[in-house]
Amino acid sequence: MATARTARLLASVPLGTSGRLLTFEAGEPLGFVGGQYVIVDTGIEREDGRRHKRAYSLVSADSGQRRFQLAVYQHGPGSFVLHSAAPGAVFSFSGPWGSFLPEDAQPRSTLLVATDSGITAAVGLLRARAFAPHRSMTKLLWLRPEGFGFFPSESVEQMAGLAPELGTLPPVGHPERLEALRAEVLPHAAVQAPERVYLSGDGAVLAPLRTELHSLGMAEGTVRLESFFNPPVRKAAA
Ligand SMILES: Cc1cc2nc3c(=O)[nH]c(=O)nc-3n(C[C@H](O)[C@H](O)[C@H](O)COP(=O)(O)OP(=O)(O)OC[C@H]3O[C@@H](n4cnc5c(N)ncnc54)[C@H](O)[C@@H]3O)c2cc1C
Repeated sequence: MATARTARLLASVPLGTSGRLLTFEAGEPLGFVGGQYVIVDTGIEREDGRRHKRAYSLVSADSGQRRFQLAVYQHGPGSFVLHSAAPGAVFSFSGPWGSFLPEDAQPRSTLLVATDSGITAAVGLLRARAFAPHRSMTKLLWLRPEGFGFFPSESVEQMAGLAPELGTLPPVGHPERLEALRAEVLPHAAVQAPERVYLSGDGAVLAPLRTELHSLGMAEGTVRLESFFNPPVRKAAA
């Protein structure tokens, strides 16, 4: 079972019109690697008496393990709790979790593709000490709807040390979203021929993209997916 830990909110500043960058201090070192996430207890009660918990990627560099940062896009009730919290608020969380990490230090040509709020996982990964061997061979594509007010691209560049190449997608759930994503990503992939691809954000369009990258010759395990929302449905065992 996940062990609950606590962290105190030190600061909360806007990150675009619909985002906030939250700085926390934990009682003990987190032990995280950039690209991982924590699960925060929002304090909101569910009907079954348990509490709503939400995952957030660590966007601060993993050279700092007690003071850490989350970038939260204002969406529904869970993110609202984090957006409204004042410095001094204490949150329970579990983690770090996740395997959105490089498997070793062998430098490899790498393509990061983030949609929507999935940019946070890409920022965390790019800041990871373990990612340093791959950084100079990495491209970052960030695709989001017109007017998306979260995480100005200048802040992404400043934090991640890499300017994202930007593109627009129809809104979440739009029937042409997958086609627009394919049109943005596949030409890049054809030119770069990456050895590793990391996808983060909307699982409804990133999961089919992963399947297509596999069919184009990328081996299983070389394309990692972190679905922030619309996770792909797991096939039931036969
Ligand atoms: C591994 C992981 C890492 C994550 N990291 C971050 C992060 O760093 N920053 C961050 O802001 N969020 C992150 N999320 C999403 C976060 O956990 C919540 O789902 C999000 O904050 C919405 O929760 P809510 O209670 O505000 O809204 P809810 O009421 O739970 O959301 C309503 C619906 O919107 C969907 N949704 C969630 N996010 C979006 C979006 N961006 N665009 C469209 N629909 C969406 C949800 O799946 C849900 O169906 C991450 C999720 C996962 C699984």
